[in-house]
Amino acid sequence: MFHDTASVLFGVEGLQVTDAEPGPDGMLEVWAVTGHPAAAACPDCGTVSVRPHEQVLTRPRDVARGLDAVEVWWVKWRWKCCSGDCERKTFTEWVPQVPPRCRMTQRLRDKAAAEIAGRGITPAEAARGNGMSWPSAHDAFAAAAGPLLEQPLGPVVHLGIDEHRRGRPRFAVDEDSGEYVLLADRWHTCFFDLSGEQGLLGQVEGRTADDAACWMWQAGPAWRDYVQVVAIDMCSIYASAVRRMLPRATLVVDLFHVVQLAVKMTGDVRRRVVRGKYGRRGRSGDAEYGIKGLLVRNLEHLRPGQFAKIMDTLGQDAGGQEILAAWIGKEKLRDVLNLRARVTGSTPCERDVRGRLARFYDWCAQNDDIPELLTLARTISRWEDEIVAAVLTGVTNARSESLNRIAKLEARLAYSFRNPANQRRRVRMACTRGTRRSHSATARRSRLVTGRKHDPG
Ligand SMILES: [Zn+2]
Repeated sequence: MFHDTASVLFGVEGLQVTDAEPGPDGMLEVWAVTGHPAAAACPDCGTVSVRPHEQVLTRPRDVARGLDAVEVWWVKWRWKCCSGDCERKTFTEWVPQVPPRCRMTQRLRDKAAAEIAGRGITPAEAARGNGMSWPSAHDAFAAAAGPLLEQPLGPVVHLGIDEHRRGRPRFAVDEDSGEYVLLADRWHTCFFDLSGEQGLLGQVEGRTADDAACWMWQAGPAWRDYVQVVAIDMCSIYASAVRRMLPRATLVVDLFHVVQLAVKMTGDVRRRVVRGKYGRRGRSGDAEYGIKGLLVRNLEHLRPGQFAKIMDTLGQDAGGQEILAAWIGKEKLRDVLNLRARVTGSTPCERDVRGRLARFYDWCAQNDDIPELLTLARTISRWEDEIVAAVLTGVTNARSESLNRIAKLEARLAYSFRNPANQRRRVRMACTRGTRRSHSATARRSRLVTGRKHDPG
């Protein structure tokens, strides 16, 4: 390494800066010569040559200096190989930052890769910003991401499983029947670390029970034994995969989806009643239409006047009573979920949870003329153990949903992916970004001057 100021500032190991001058458009021209012990070693046989052949001038692309581009003019030797057995006749010098046949510095590649991995920009944008081609930026990113993503999984206590669509479904018209036929409906099943900091653990193509089970199988028996709770949406496919591969783990369903189901049921009843009463869909001016926004709110968030408005509006006829019964059913189900520790501040007991569930079922049975309420009660009873476990453990799939949003954002930025492997790599790097940042962030410390001191005199 050279110790003259210009070479230290330039910072490419093995290159000595001989001249630097500002070029047109703020471009900086840097002239350099080689001074690396391995530079004259033949890339084939490794023999260090002592027979110069000719001088050549190359211009490897390099990182910018601030806002200005830097043009490197590297004057280097072409050597003749001294080994008699070597097939190579001549070769040019190389340094670790610019290996043989490379036309850009490694630090430029690293910069593009770090921008894609850390800032969430696309390879196309990184390529534009760094003056390289899309394949170069993409290859740099893939090479940097590979070792990070191949690290073995750390233990996970709470596992989340969710799915996301990996592209638009494709249809074609069947020539015989004239009907649309689904050609491809591509999904990824994703696995998340809900309790730790590992973010997105992995993805598999497809969303069958076998796809999910296969991923859990390859994670290894020790990893599987560590998982205590698995959170899923109300999806029987993933439930069967979890029961098969993680028989000892507690299965919980995400409570957001339970509430969503109850809110949808209230809306379904309201729409059916309104259609029966007016013979058309609801519109502004209808009494029921005026309270539709209030019906989806939580009871505890209603002001007294709003509560009275609901009661007044729905107490007037039999249809209104039906909507009211559905709304009360929704709130009775929410009573069950409100026992979780995050709401009450104390650990819930299973008997209380099951007691409130029984009251919800009881209400549904009293109003068995409302088909939507009965359907909801049936669905809830099918997932009863998982709902009770979710209330008791307080584990939710919220982090899976938030990371899924990042996964969808990556696909949007890329204007959708053609290559599933590229998509998995990009999404996984994006969904583990927070983890890497928390580990790599080092405190910036001031340092005592121990080396050469600045001496203006
Ligand atoms: Zn050789």
